[in-house]
Amino acid sequence: MRNQANNLDLPSGVDKLVADIREYNPNTDRELIRKAYHYGEECHRNQLRHSGEPYFIHPVAVARILMELKMDDQTIVTGLLHDTLEDTAANYSKLECEFGEQIANYIDGVTKLTKFEFPDTETLEAENVRKLLLAISENPCVLFVKLADRLHNMRTIEFLPPKKQHRKAIETMEFYAPLAGRMGMQNMREELEDLAFQVLDPQQRDSICFHYAALEKQSAEAVQTITKDIESLLRDIGIEFKIQSRAKKPFSIWRKANEKNIPFSTIADAYGFRIITETEHQAYQALGAIHIKWSAIPGRLKDYISQPKVNGYRSIHTTVLGPNDQKIEVQIRTLEMHQVAELGVAAHWSYKDGVRMENPYAEDSQKSLSELKGSILEFERSDKFLDHLKLEMNSNRVFCFTPKGQVVKLVQGASVLDFAYAIHTNLGHGFVAAKVDGRSAQAQDILKNGNTVEIVSAGIPSPHSKWEDFVKSARAKSAIRRYFREKKEEELSGQGMIDLRSQFEKEGWDWNMNIIRTALNNLNYSSEKELLAHVGSKKISTNDVIKAVYPEYYKKQEGDDTVPAAQAVVGLKANNTYRRADCCNPVPGEKIVGITQRGKVVSIHAIYCPKLKQFSERRWEPLSWNSGRHAPIYPVTLEIKMANRAGVLGRICTSIGEQNSNISNLRITDRQHDFYLLEVDVDVRGIGHLHSLQSSIKADSDVSKIVRLPIESNSL
Ligand code: MN
Repeated sequence: MRNQANNLDLPSGVDKLVADIREYNPNTDRELIRKAYHYGEECHRNQLRHSGEPYFIHPVAVARILMELKMDDQTIVTGLLHDTLEDTAANYSKLECEFGEQIANYIDGVTKLTKFEFPDTETLEAENVRKLLLAISENPCVLFVKLADRLHNMRTIEFLPPKKQHRKAIETMEFYAPLAGRMGMQNMREELEDLAFQVLDPQQRDSICFHYAALEKQSAEAVQTITKDIESLLRDIGIEFKIQSRAKKPFSIWRKANEKNIPFSTIADAYGFRIITETEHQAYQALGAIHIKWSAIPGRLKDYISQPKVNGYRSIHTTVLGPNDQKIEVQIRTLEMHQVAELGVAAHWSYKDGVRMENPYAEDSQKSLSELKGSILEFERSDKFLDHLKLEMNSNRVFCFTPKGQVVKLVQGASVLDFAYAIHTNLGHGFVAAKVDGRSAQAQDILKNGNTVEIVSAGIPSPHSKWEDFVKSARAKSAIRRYFREKKEEELSGQGMIDLRSQFEKEGWDWNMNIIRTALNNLNYSSEKELLAHVGSKKISTNDVIKAVYPEYYKKQEGDDTVPAAQAVVGLKANNTYRRADCCNPVPGEKIVGITQRGKVVSIHAIYCPKLKQFSERRWEPLSWNSGRHAPIYPVTLEIKMANRAGVLGRICTSIGEQNSNISNLRITDRQHDFYLLEVDVDVRGIGHLHSLQSSIKADSDVSKIVRLPIESNSL
């Protein structure tokens, strides 16, 4: 964006905009639109687009696209102001103050999308796409403004540098156009695709346009004749209608040719007509009249009025053999259905004589967005996300039924097994057989619209690894994958248990599950299964686990040069000695402070000791423990609460011994019928030793609590 003084002289000013909105919405808040217009104009004053035109032309064009979609005032205002939070003096609180919280939030929502937009790479990155899609699906207004913004930017893309053009075109082709399609916004989708096509493959597009124009010229006369034929046919049965001959966008022709692998001429060889009636009843009357006059080509009749597509598309499609055996494709639908077909979720409201009416056929935009969001959240974060997403956004749906008549929506090409998983993961996992419309069917059989599917489940999960290859839905795929991942973990952890046990026995240690719990704490694993699976897959060796359970024993084997008690504390003045304060009993490794008493004895406190506050900070001496390895000579008192059950006490003592710690005293301080409270004095090397001692005692399932006395550092 360049800055330069420039007088704004916009071709379509605010008066025109308001007048055009009033055409469909006489209740529009004129003052609000005017205010937003002037506010935006002021914000963008002196800014220029790449084309050299005043920047404000862009937000106005975006607002006009939204106006053409017959959007409400708030959405149009958001369009006018959608770029003000970036590169202008406006900010959220100013916008909130001028236009209210809701509009400010919408503008903020559109602005935030820029953050997730795609980085300077040729390919879309799964994680970005995911974030962007989740942000867009927050709110329909954000979706509409973003699509209108992208549409205008694509219409004016020639002013961008070529490299940027290419990137924007790819984003548009792979993300924004499919998104519009998923929301049923066919017109938006086709224009976006065609604009991107022009950037990505201009030669192909030119060639298609050239051939298409030639064909149109050739067929102009035939089209006119057929139009007249249809007109008189329908007039005879006395219905109101409009008739259009359908022009195809170059990219749709190209896609059809590519997808079906058929030459261009065959695609363009059928004439396409669209009949728009007033009522649904008339649509079927028109179909009847056409089928009486010309013979229908078998298999080409599709009734999307009684079986609409998932995005709300409704229409009757048929192909007949017209005069001179010329193929004629006909689409028949009502005006309201037609609006949904072209505008999708944007057709939610229509305005008849200034009164806002709900289009009964439009899908609710909020609902469609949350469905899309739901299916995104179901994908796992994997590289395959983009493939799933493509399928999710591009494919049509089939509707099938449970034996009780419940509708199940599935992606096109979904198998019987997808159906089972769509109902419940366990129904999928337990699949043994199925019936489709009463006939027995295989798991991989592809379902058609209207099928009634009955699944027989074994009740026990027994998925087959080949299932993953043919299921289509993300839900089924990830359920199957998860099952096999968990099964594998199960096997590995079983193996891990066997390996570990035999190694423990070989080294002469007793084996029980409490040992695993000690290892879990010391090795920072979150579950026994995970640790055992890692042992099973040899990600961690059995010896490392044993060392984590008995660190003291194995350290001793590795050498025992310990710090002499006299050198344990660093920072003491010459001739001074130290004493561990009774109030906190600090051990090596803990942060300490020295307090000089009378004479030459310094008493050392742990930094967290509440008693320290009694001494003026002038008396605090900065001391620390020697960082070397200490001998197990520092007594600490532990209070242990344990079940009153035979053998518990013995196990605790054994466990302390195995940790290479000495018990210097042991008292039972409370004894109820169901528990004991025990105080044990143990000698430790330092804080690390103490922690592993505590966790090995705690691992015993009969121990409910263990605390260090007299105070606990973490209880402060
Ligand atoms: Mn913009």
